[in-house]
Parts: sequence; C-alpha cells; structure tokens
Amino acid sequence: MNPNILQSPIAYLKGVGPNRAETLKSELGIETCQDLLHLFPNRYIDKTQYYKITQLQRSSADVQIIGKIINIRTVEQKKGKRLVAKFTDGQGEMELVWFRGQKWIRENLIINVPYVIFGKTNWFNGTFSMPHPDMELLEDHKKGLKIGMQPVYPSTEKLSNKGITNRVVGKLIQQLFIETKGRFSETLSPKILTELNLLPKNEALFNIHFPKNQELLAKAQFRLKFEELFYIQLQLIVKNMLHKQRIKGYSFNKVGLLFNEFYKNHLPFDLTNAQKRVIKEIRADLGSNAQMNRLLQGDVGSGKTIVALMTMLLAIDNGFQACLMAPTEILANQHYTGIKELLNDIGVNIALLTGSVKKRDRKIIHDQLESGELHILIGTHALLEDKVQYKNLGLAIIDEQHRFGVAQRAKLWHKNDIPPHILVMTATPIPRTLAMSLYGDLDISTIDELPPGRKPIKTVHRYDSNRLKVFKFIRDEIKKGRQIYVVYPLIQESEALDYKDLMDGYESIVRDFPMPEYQISIVHGKMKPADKDYEMDRFVRGETQIMVATTVIEVGVNVPNASVMIIESAERFGLSQLHQLRGRVGRGADQSFCILMTSHKLSSDSKTRLETMVRTTDGFEIAEVDLKLRGPGDLMGTQQSGVLNLKIADLIKDNEILKTARYYALTLLKEDSLLEHHPAIRHTYAQIVKHKNIWNYIS
Ligand code: ADP
Ligand code: MG
Repeated sequence: MNPNILQSPIAYLKGVGPNRAETLKSELGIETCQDLLHLFPNRYIDKTQYYKITQLQRSSADVQIIGKIINIRTVEQKKGKRLVAKFTDGQGEMELVWFRGQKWIRENLIINVPYVIFGKTNWFNGTFSMPHPDMELLEDHKKGLKIGMQPVYPSTEKLSNKGITNRVVGKLIQQLFIETKGRFSETLSPKILTELNLLPKNEALFNIHFPKNQELLAKAQFRLKFEELFYIQLQLIVKNMLHKQRIKGYSFNKVGLLFNEFYKNHLPFDLTNAQKRVIKEIRADLGSNAQMNRLLQGDVGSGKTIVALMTMLLAIDNGFQACLMAPTEILANQHYTGIKELLNDIGVNIALLTGSVKKRDRKIIHDQLESGELHILIGTHALLEDKVQYKNLGLAIIDEQHRFGVAQRAKLWHKNDIPPHILVMTATPIPRTLAMSLYGDLDISTIDELPPGRKPIKTVHRYDSNRLKVFKFIRDEIKKGRQIYVVYPLIQESEALDYKDLMDGYESIVRDFPMPEYQISIVHGKMKPADKDYEMDRFVRGETQIMVATTVIEVGVNVPNASVMIIESAERFGLSQLHQLRGRVGRGADQSFCILMTSHKLSSDSKTRLETMVRTTDGFEIAEVDLKLRGPGDLMGTQQSGVLNLKIADLIKDNEILKTARYYALTLLKEDSLLEHHPAIRHTYAQIVKHKNIWNYIS
C-alpha cells in the first residue's frame, strides 16, 4: 500500500470521484484522505436496538427500523413538492418524507426490498413519519462492520442533497481504513504515550470512527483531544520563542531617578503583592533585548493604572517617551488628571491628546513630542494619527484592550523602526490557560488581588414592579451623601427604541427626584463631547447626585463617592459588561450596592447571568461562566471569533486537557527546542505548519 495515501486527493479514494470530491471540499473542507480521516463524529448513536413501528413513541428520538417501501409518490404543496414513501415492517405502517434531493432518492430507492432506516420520527394526523431517513439495504447492513456505537458525522444540507449521507461518509472512512490497513504513523512520543497512558494513534483513530465500546471511545477521544491541543500549544510556544529571538527591543536597563523618587516619595499607598510581582515581570521584559509584548489583566479596581505609570517612568528613566491609549475620551481624561496628580512636581512633562483638543494646542503637542520635550502622551485613537510623531517612543500602553482591534495594535507598532515595548491592559479577565491559547504572542501578567480594605459590593436582582422600593433606597443613600449611577442599555447608539427608554427613564427619575433638592446628570452617546464632559465633571465633583447614563460610562471611570449602581434592563447586558458596570462602584470606603433591574420575562441564559452576578464578584469566575454561555469567540469580540478551528477538542470543556497539553509542550521544547530527538513530533509539526497557517487565526 502506498504510504502516501493519506496525502493523496480525496477524489482518488474508491467511492468518491470528482463530483463528490468537489462537494466534500466545498462543504467540509476535505481535500485529502487525511482530512477525511480527521473528520471526527459530532456524536454517537446506539444502534444496537431495532424498533417496531407499533412500538414508536411520540418522543422524536432517533430510532432504527427494518422494513420495506411499498410505494413512492410526489405530493404537491404550497411551496415546492415533497416525496413520500409508504414504509411497512409487516405490522405497522409509516411514511418516509423528503423535501430536498428528491431526484436522487427517486432514482436510487428500490421498492419491496428490506431496508434498515434510521432517523427521528414525527407524529402527525395519526401517522408516524421520518423526514430524510438514513437508509441502508438490510443486506449491506448485515455485511457492514458490526458496531454498537454509530458515529454521526458533521453534515450540511448540500451534502445530504447530493446523497452524501452520514452512512456514505461512514462507508468512505471504512474504505480508507481498508486501503491503509488501519496503519497510521504515531504522532506522539513514546514518553508522552506512556506517561499519560494514551491509546496509540492507530487504535485511537479506529475507535473514534468505529468505537468498540464506550470505554474505548472515551480513551480515543482523550488521546485525540490531547494531540490536537498539544500541537496548537507547540506552535504557540514556538512562535513566542521566535518572537523573542527575532524582534529586537530597546533595553531599559536602568532603574533610575524618577522610578525611585516616585516609589519612595509619591506612592500614595503600599502596592499589593500582586502589583509588585507584576512590576517585576514587566521590568524583566524591559531589561532584556527583546520587545515586550505583554497582557496585563486584572479585575476592575485591582490597580492597573499605577503599574502602567511606574512602567512609563522606567521608560523615561532610560531616555524614552511613553504613551497611554484609552478607548474613550472620558477615560483618557481621567487617566491624564489622575496621573498628573500622582506625578505632581516630579518633573515629567505630560500631555493629553484627544479628538477635542484644538488645532493650535495639537500643533504644540506634535512639536514637543518630536523634540522630545514631552515625556508622556495620554489620549484616545487620536494617538494613532500619522501626524503624531515621537522623538523616541519606547513604550506604548493600551488600556481596556478589548475595545481595540488587532490592527490598531499593529499600527502603534509600525511607527518606529525598532518597535516600542507594548503593554496591553484589560479588566476582562480570561481564564489563564484560555488566554494563552488565544493570545499566543502575548506574555501574560495577572493582578489577582484587590487593594486591601475593599468591601465586596452587594448585588441584588429586582423586578421592575419593585421600582418604588428601589427609589426609596436611592433616596436613603443620597441622604447619606452617596452618589448613584442609573445605567440604560444602549448597545447601538443608533437604536431609537433604546434611546427612548433612556429618555423615558430620565424623565421619570427627574419627576421622582425633583430639583432643587436633587441634581441629575445625563450622559449618552448622542451628546457632543463637550456636553458629555461637562455633565461627567459635575458628577465627579459631587454637584449632581444621580448620573443617568448609557454604557458610555462602562469603562474605567473612577468616582469613589458613587456607591450605588442601578442597571436597567439588566437582562439585555452580557456578563462581562455587567461586571464592568458594577466595577464603577465599590471604589471608596462605603458599602456599595449593585441593583439589577429586569422585567419578569427572562430567558434561561439571562437568569444564569443574573444569578452569577448576585453570587460572586470574582471577575475570573464570571469570565468562566461567560465563556460557557457565549463561547470563546464572542468573548474576544467579533474580530477574533472562530479563533481556532478545533476538530475535536473544546477550549472550555477540555480545559484540563489543555493545561496538560501546554505543560507537555513546554517541557518538550525546554528539553529539545529543535525537536531533534523527537522525530515523530517534528515530522507532524512540520506538516501542520506547512498545511495550515495557524497565525492567520491568531492576532
Ligand atoms: P483598574 O485596575 O480598574 O484600572 P485603578 O488603577 O483605577 O484600577 O485603581 C482603582 C483604585 O484603587 C484607584 O483609586 C487607585 O488609586 C486605588 N489603588 C490602586 N492600587 C492600590 C493599592 N495598592 N492600595 C490601595 N489603593 C489602591
Ligand atoms: Mg483602569
């Protein structure tokens, strides 16, 4: 047998041919025999049972029946035609129905010959029917491999229209096993196989397609999931190693005056241990000759800003400039004011550049940036404009990374010949192992500890019908001198309905909290930036007690005296968004509250989200639930959805396997970075890299 059969085009496999090859390619991306071998079943069905039509239940479960077709007829209906076959098992009768692919069915079905049919049944007008049954002649069925667990392969409408049913796919795979005699090269090392007690490749592939029993199926799945995740990790780690070797960075080897002066005399509090550890990690990066590319993740309020600031001081100490980019003007403003205050009279020049900076002032900033007079530039997207040229940018920090696309990150990058060090900060924590799979090129630092003395925010869920009680609670809190946020969903600024909700809500609050006793701010996306800032400022300075807003306040704003967060239509927000919003309170010494308002109609996902928010304030736990509800693609934002095209493993469910795979990949590369002593792994790795450019999927 030709050992290269796996690499040969699928069309050459007996039973395929050019037409089917075309369909397999367009529908399932199968081009070679190997691709077919790696088409893994979605699920398995127990086909050890045969049912009688008289035994059928109205449960719409999958059943297997032996019988004959008595007649076939075409029935005209409003939209198109359907093909109906009368089917009997000698005792009862039922109908088989096709809505599509009728020509093929008509030409190929034989009347009055025993078939084994398989599929879901429907009950209608006193008759059972089975739409698009999977059919096999009883004679062939008896000859086929006797397996209890029947695989169900991924399928599409077009595949079944063209007669490439599940059974046909199974047959093709059988053919492949016949031609290869079921012998496939081992792709893992003997050491890994032994240590993890994995099935050999041959057995794993056999049992994934033709499982002998549940136990072997489970072992086969484990082995193949491990293998898939192992090779992804291997690629990610190699990429990271190459990045470190190839991409030169400025070496910040001095810890100089500014850093020390700040640390000794300006730090307003003791750093948490987590902050200290993270700064150490960053310093190690900056001192090496490679470009830093680091993700700093820490829950809302964990104190990322101070870490960013100290990192910028390191850059300045080494004669470089630094910039800090934020996703919104409000946040850029706040960073600017906060950092300016912290730096006080330490002798660092710092400027703010946003869309609303006047042309004349802009010009000054541009000039000072080019002359090197300016040390730190803080701003929004405006930082990315071509006119913004630095004398020597050594460090770029991006806050709240999820708002920026990958392309924007790259843009900052290409402003210099030697790229600046990059630190991206995010408050949307991602479970660590998952982050490592998604951001292969980023190193990760985590602040997993909140500053001391924070009281956990109390979170409750209230229905709209309890609004009066909620209003009374607000009144009491305001009496104590606290400030309140009321947030409305305005997911898309253009949605007129959302906007109306917001304005209605605002009016009802104004009615219930009348001037002059109460002052109310409002901020939403349709306002001019200057008006927004004015309203925000009034709230920050404590001149207004209630801030009615849309999610524009979601990110980063810091008003320590605000202690109540009311989220309207909370069922419409995603979990990470709810968590971000809640993070706006609980920043001062007072007990803070978050009230999630909803209608009575809640989907089960909404219920889970609300329960999770009420149960925990731990951002990592929330991220895990979010991940389970939404899947990793959504979590990362659309630009990164479908990040990894996994064939068998599931990043969430198989998280433990992922950790093991990462551990083994790391250990292997540590011992044998060129894979010289692991020929099987080196060979497989080379093939994967050649065939699929994984880096297209990952940032
Ligand atoms: P985030 O990580 O959400 O950006 P910030 O950097 O805005 O958090 O910090 C939140 C608040 O906690 C700020 O008011 C900051 O001054 C304060 N803070 C940060 N680190 C500490 C610390 N080690 N001890 C006490 N307060 C701290
Ligand atoms: Mg922040």
